Amino acid sequence: MTSDPSARLSRRGVFSAALALGSAVLLPSAAATARAAGNRAPGTGGRDGATTPPITDCGGWGAREASEEVVVLDTRPERIIVHHTASANVTDYSRERAHALARAIQTYHMDVQGWIDTGQHFTVSRGAFVLEGRHHSLAALDAGDRLVRGAHCVGQNSVAIGIENEGTYTTAEPPAAQFSALADLCARVCRQYDVSPSEIYGHRDFNSTACPGDRLYAMLPQLRQDVARRLGGTEAVPLPRRPVHASADWSADPAALAGSLAEYLPPGLLDPVRTR
Ligand SMILES: [Zn+2]
Repeated sequence: MTSDPSARLSRRGVFSAALALGSAVLLPSAAATARAAGNRAPGTGGRDGATTPPITDCGGWGAREASEEVVVLDTRPERIIVHHTASANVTDYSRERAHALARAIQTYHMDVQGWIDTGQHFTVSRGAFVLEGRHHSLAALDAGDRLVRGAHCVGQNSVAIGIENEGTYTTAEPPAAQFSALADLCARVCRQYDVSPSEIYGHRDFNSTACPGDRLYAMLPQLRQDVARRLGGTEAVPLPRRPVHASADWSADPAALAGSLAEYLPPGLLDPVRTR
């Protein structure tokens, strides 16, 4: 996760930026999102009816309201970017821990980073719970034709789904259940948005960061293959196209850029885990 460009813009600036994108719309409420998502009955999932894995929405884990309207683009994402939270490799695999993690990330992103909401679209806990990150991300996924503008990877926030995986995977591998839930989530994203499994990347493919850790990064070929299998594919997944690194999202201000790359949860934020 990194950089919320909107954090450095005024509300008017955000609105102007959204207008400048041409394809952006601002949705005022969850109800509006539900209306915009069409007539699909709750719980029937996406275009193909698949609802795996179950995803806890913002209301389910006790999210705060976003500080500004979340921007919903009427375009599909082109890729998925995998992150790690760089937080402790806890052995508390409970739902309560997953919800506390989601709240802690939101608190950090809003109160410390100054972003409007959680940066990433989805979070996978070490206990394999999958949670919505930024508001409206789940409704957008279910609709399959729109994308919430995130704040997880400089240059990619309007074109990539960001998934945070709880833990630090520089020398350790994620628990098998967490990795499997990540593959389930990626498969759901690929189905809904017609994204190829070959378009799954690590944060470090685009920004100067260790994220998602050497070990998890090394598992991305397996992840692509696992996702392809979930989609019914039998062929080997080709390596992704070479990513383009720098882009228009890069700030010209070195101090702001340095700040935008700070994605780590402060030590102690989750210790002790707060209860709702
Ligand atoms: Zn990252």
